[in-house]
Amino acid sequence: MTSPALSDIQTLGQLLANAQHRLEQAGIANAAQEARWLLAYALKMKHHELASRSEQLVTAEQLARVMSMVRRRESREPLQYILGSQEFCGLDFSVTPAVLIPRPETELLIQETVREGGFAEGAVLVDVGTGSGCVAVTLATILSGMRIFALDCSHDALSVARGNAERHGVSDKIIWREGDLLSPLRDCSVAGAVDAIISNPPYIAEADWAGLQPEVRDYEPRCALLAGLQGIEFHDRLIRDSKEFLVPGGLLIMELGLGQASLVRRVAEDAGGYTGLQTVKDEAGIERVFIARRACEAPNHG
Ligand code: GLN
Repeated sequence: MTSPALSDIQTLGQLLANAQHRLEQAGIANAAQEARWLLAYALKMKHHELASRSEQLVTAEQLARVMSMVRRRESREPLQYILGSQEFCGLDFSVTPAVLIPRPETELLIQETVREGGFAEGAVLVDVGTGSGCVAVTLATILSGMRIFALDCSHDALSVARGNAERHGVSDKIIWREGDLLSPLRDCSVAGAVDAIISNPPYIAEADWAGLQPEVRDYEPRCALLAGLQGIEFHDRLIRDSKEFLVPGGLLIMELGLGQASLVRRVAEDAGGYTGLQTVKDEAGIERVFIARRACEAPNHG
């Protein structure tokens, strides 16, 4: 379809064609679909209404509303920040630029936590770097009778996460703490008593930063992404620091970036104190989840 100039736009169909054309020019892969999402959201319409009302005239106010969103997307702001939400494990999560947008890969972290699980009533689970709260909130909706701590160093991220917990009716199941990695747990009297530490930590290596998509590099929180020279700085720290908190047999489960499995496994072997090291591949065949169990203390023969 030819795209009318902005000044010639009169109908919904023309507006849609113009939006799609602009997004294509900006290098956005599924421009047609994204244009429909943006229009439907901006005009509070259902997708099928966009098709069936293509001859409907648009007002100047509607045109301005749609164009301000199209311009944001043209500058490669992620669609999810413009629409304010992202679906994860079948639940809708509010997202702002204070939080990483939940990724489909992270659903595997949830699946594997539940599969490994075997959590008794009253088990203590910790989600480190909760961000939008997608991990903690999803686990809270699936598992009952757990105490879930959700930690993040960002105050703004925690307020987004709390909002998501409220939205899904699990606020009373989650305890929120602000601070660096596991350090907030030091005031929670849970040393040696945590059943599972779960994390999707930052895992981008510094050298890979420049090559990221602009949506990620220019808009998502840097502190949720960057993780030192090899991208495993946080995995390394979690492996070392978790030993203080996990119960013997307790689970440490973390998401991994491409090619990080063997590095992380070596860190865990060198750190000692873990058994049952394994990785789980995602649908693309990438080793995506790392799993280890806190070793039981060696018997004391003294
Ligand atoms: N745990 C959150 C998520 O999985 C945030 C992860 C992060 O910010 N690195 O989306």
